[in-house]
Amino acid sequence: MLTGKVAVVTGAGRGIGRAIAVKLAQLGASIVINYRSSAKEAEDVVSEIRNCGGKAEMVQGDVSSFDEAEKVIKFAVENFGRLDILVNNAGITKDTLLLRMKEDDFSKVLDINLKGVFNCTKHASNIMLKQKSGRIINISSVIGLIGNAGQANYAAAKAGIIGFTKSVAKELGTRGITANAIAPGFITTDMTEVLSDKVKEKLLENVPLKRLGSPEDVANLAAFLASENASYITGQVINVDGGMVM
Ligand code: NAD
Repeated sequence: MLTGKVAVVTGAGRGIGRAIAVKLAQLGASIVINYRSSAKEAEDVVSEIRNCGGKAEMVQGDVSSFDEAEKVIKFAVENFGRLDILVNNAGITKDTLLLRMKEDDFSKVLDINLKGVFNCTKHASNIMLKQKSGRIINISSVIGLIGNAGQANYAAAKAGIIGFTKSVAKELGTRGITANAIAPGFITTDMTEVLSDKVKEKLLENVPLKRLGSPEDVANLAAFLASENASYITGQVINVDGGMVM
């Protein structure tokens, strides 16, 4: 399905990014694994992909830096000759109520979760425009749609991704480039591991499918959006949330 395609997945050392990278590789794409600080995690993903006969390389880079994002995107072209798929997955949380939220808690989350998406998309779009094709897949969150107490910074960034995605879809559509956002609900990763069992039980009350999602649930949608089968879908926000938000 993705043979001959080249994908960059940001923050792909673990969690949802890792699952997306592995899935795209299973479908035949060559993958650039971006990581910020844990080279060991990135090495593990590269090994997993190569052990299954796939192609992967890893590159360090903090997506919140415009120059480092450029380095990540250039790395894909230098190593694999092109760039077809960008998955903006890297993200962090710094949860606290507005009353206690420090300026830095807000700026850091916006810098990585929103400006990071701009940085990578900006550099990737230069290449995709020349190729007259491309897939941009941004990982937002249902929190960007409905908000959440204690996550004003995160919700603002994730809502920002949605506006950004729609604008980019409108700008780049004529050049064969699609841009879509995925809004996961609660997915079992390190990010949600910190939640207590009590909080998880409470969350499940609002999930008709009565389970937390897996990173693979999100990866399956990313793989579809990256494929030819999704060539007439752009500017959309698609939830992977067990029916939590509808
Ligand atoms: P995670 O913490 O397991 O993974 C996030 C990855 O991003 C890590 O590998 C981290 O090192 C990387 N990263 C962080 N800052 C970075 C930076 N500046 N540059 C490059 N990489 C950086 O979390 P996850 O749950 O796998 O989250 C992945 C994405 O999915 C995030 O954007 C998150 O907001 C989103 N999301 C997660 C959930 C969930 O329930 N887990 C729900 C909705 C959305």
